[in-house]
Amino acid sequence: MENIRLIMIDMDGTLYDVSDLIEDGFNTSVNYLIEFYEFDKEDAEEALIQNHIYPYVSEDARSTTGFFISRGIDMTHWDAYRSEHFGYRLIDNSKAMSEESLKKLADIAPLVLLTNNTRINVKHVLDKINVSEDIFTEIFCNENEKKTPSKKTMMEELLHKYNVKPHEALSIGDRFDVDAKPMIELGGSALILLKPQAIDRFLDEIDNPQSCNVYSFYPGK
Ligand SMILES: [Mg+2]
Repeated sequence: MENIRLIMIDMDGTLYDVSDLIEDGFNTSVNYLIEFYEFDKEDAEEALIQNHIYPYVSEDARSTTGFFISRGIDMTHWDAYRSEHFGYRLIDNSKAMSEESLKKLADIAPLVLLTNNTRINVKHVLDKINVSEDIFTEIFCNENEKKTPSKKTMMEELLHKYNVKPHEALSIGDRFDVDAKPMIELGGSALILLKPQAIDRFLDEIDNPQSCNVYSFYPGK
């Protein structure tokens, strides 16, 4: 881990427990398709589930963003809608990642918050879990007209910006496809947390991280 020079950390499901919000988030997506794309409830739910977007936690879950982009949905419109309907009040602070743990990560290397969520929602979440924005070197949101289906483009942009080689970067998140796969493909390391507080176990084992029952570690090439 001593060669890590940049850490990118996801927000939803990583800083707070995704099970608090997953049903609410799923319903927001369903309602959006009903309200603006003439789906009925059943068709909307089926379309989302077929695209690996579920009202429950699942290892093969994918991002709503990727699916909506593939449907040609206007991302500025969707982001405005999801900001308005985001159920951050449901977050349970006792299960969230602590500011102390985030500080430990920030002591290792510049810590960038990299999220598919909107800037407004980042503020809501950080306020709710009592984490200062100053912990992060930068908050990088994948939103509006610049939105990309995968985080890979943004990861590449950050590597370039911080002048860091892929093998010197670590991506931390809660979903393999979204947070780990693009970084592994670039040649970097990834850490997938089953629960936000699993970060503390990883930090305890940081000199020799071995995948365990609360996190999966994928060392870079
Ligand atoms: Mg996530």
